[in-house]
Amino acid sequence: MPDVTNPRPVISGQYDVVIVGAGFAGLYQLHRLRLLGMTAKVIEAGSGVGGTWYWNRYPGARCDVESMQYSYAFSEELQQEWQWPELFSAQPDILKYANHVADKLDLRRDILFDTRVTETRFDETSNRWSVRTNHGDTFSAGFMVMATGCLSTARVPDFKGLGSFKGSTYHTGAWPHEGVDFSGLRVGVIGTGSSAIQAIPVIAEQAADLTVFQRTPNFSIPSRNGPMVGTYERQWKDKYPDLRADARNTRNGILAYPNDFSALSVTPDERRRIYEERWASGGTTFMAAFNDLIFNQEANDTAAEFVRGKIREIVKDPTIAELLAPKDHPIGTKRICVDTRYFETYNRPNVHLIDVRSAPIEEITPTGLRTANAEYEFDAIVFATGFDAMTGALTAIDIHSTDRSTLKQKWEDGPRTYLGLMCAHFPNMFMVTGPGSPSVLSNMHVSIEQDVNWISDCLAYLRGNGTARMEATQQSEDAWVLHGIEVANKTLYPKAASWYMGANIEGKPRVFMPYIGGVNAYREKCAEIAANGYTGFRLTGPSAVAQAAE
Ligand code: FAD
Ligand code: NAP
Repeated sequence: MPDVTNPRPVISGQYDVVIVGAGFAGLYQLHRLRLLGMTAKVIEAGSGVGGTWYWNRYPGARCDVESMQYSYAFSEELQQEWQWPELFSAQPDILKYANHVADKLDLRRDILFDTRVTETRFDETSNRWSVRTNHGDTFSAGFMVMATGCLSTARVPDFKGLGSFKGSTYHTGAWPHEGVDFSGLRVGVIGTGSSAIQAIPVIAEQAADLTVFQRTPNFSIPSRNGPMVGTYERQWKDKYPDLRADARNTRNGILAYPNDFSALSVTPDERRRIYEERWASGGTTFMAAFNDLIFNQEANDTAAEFVRGKIREIVKDPTIAELLAPKDHPIGTKRICVDTRYFETYNRPNVHLIDVRSAPIEEITPTGLRTANAEYEFDAIVFATGFDAMTGALTAIDIHSTDRSTLKQKWEDGPRTYLGLMCAHFPNMFMVTGPGSPSVLSNMHVSIEQDVNWISDCLAYLRGNGTARMEATQQSEDAWVLHGIEVANKTLYPKAASWYMGANIEGKPRVFMPYIGGVNAYREKCAEIAANGYTGFRLTGPSAVAQAAE
């Protein structure tokens, strides 16, 4: 259906590749295709580049991977010239960086903004995709690259009375560009995931009164963020290519200097000393304190208890501290949060914590909300309720396969891909950081560059071999899905009701969606498959020169 709210003339065009999404993945993909001399169009729902950092403008939003690492590695010039003001950059600085890259590489002229891809169909005769948008545009493309993001479909739970609230409502993942002034207001925040944990301390400083509705407490480590120190920046810039290569060879694409021994191999005193050291240095690298924290429950318990102890030390009211101390999942099996004075915020007199596990939210009312226990009045409600992660942006598009089903139907029991890059029956459609790839378990910049490089090399190979069509075989897809489950089951991750498992959305199948074998192992596997002529893919086309073994 054409977008009647924002009409504009209908556009059409033919391209080698249509890319969906202008976040860090889509931007880099466009750059790589231009270097290959291919024609490409990027279609982006937002009015600007940056993806996550375009949409998530809530107060306190910042990265949880240090900026020297959470940035593109593909251009030495770019990584030398760019200066990050802080260790963990805030959303405005990351968005500024995305815009700088778009300008520097002159990317905007090939990006169609304010346009959402709604439907795609593969034509078996021409081996081309037809792409439709919400404006009624139609594009034809030899290949599609879905750079639609893992966390780009903001989600508000289906609360009764949702539209009845007379005050203002916000979702962290679709924050107003002009910002929100909470001064003097009574604010309710629903959720205590990473977004809430960043937003709550900042909103608490502004609002007259802040009430947080918590269903599940989360583990959070202080970031120890601060201004970028010149000598630290220099250390990185002096050795950037080597350090980036080292990061690519880790499990999660982050240089964290892990200790390669078990938490159970040292004395309790030594263990505590190591945890204290990691707590003092801050950030997600806390989980690298020992090599078995995500594999061994007993080892994990020591880390979880250490963090619970810290929460009890920080939060003055013991009842609130106990409510904030996570006990229902092993530490690290939900994305560990990184904060700036989150637990301290609960010592403020204007901040209240309500447990909605024991008394769930029953209804949004015209004046606020009602739980099973009580009614609350607000001027504004912030939904920090997360995303339809990993699959949501892809299944929102009617992507028609060659066997007459849609991707949404194919994934009814959970996403199925080969390497997270392609699916059987969806020829010539690549996904960047798709389900089945390390993606959200890693520094996403590392995974994005890995996937975009692989896709670009693959497209060059197909062109070089006169191959018009490439598709994952059913057999290779099945084997990869099975492998993903086996690897996940060796860890503690499936024990958590996390969005990694689809557990944040009622009715979503419980399947561990990212690949947990590590970005290093994944990279080797992808390289080996490419080197062997793209094993596990069926390559056909006008000249059918390459026929990879299944
Ligand atoms: P996105 O940035 O999500 O971009 C996808 C784009 O596709 C969006 O702009 C969207 O509008 C567009 N799109 C989707 N569907 C359509 C459609 N049908 N038609 C047109 N356009 C469409 N990762 C880290 O590694 N470290 C971090 O510190 C970190 N912090 C994060 C903080 C927040 C608040 C969130 C939400 C995520 C964070 N992430 C982090 C993950 C983050 O999503 C990635 O790091 C990265 O920005 C993803 O880039 P992307 O280009 O793959 O996807
Ligand atoms: P999230 O982790 O999914 O958190 C959503 C929160 O909303 C959870 O606390 C959830 O509780 C709660 N919730 C959902 N439905 C509810 C309901 N019906 N009633 C009460 N509470 C409800 O989402 P997010 O915080 O936006 O983070 C998503 C991911 O984005 C992160 O894991 C991370 O990967 C990324 N991110 C990173 C950063 C960063 O530090 N750089 C910041 C923000 C986001 P339950 O847990 O009980 O479901």
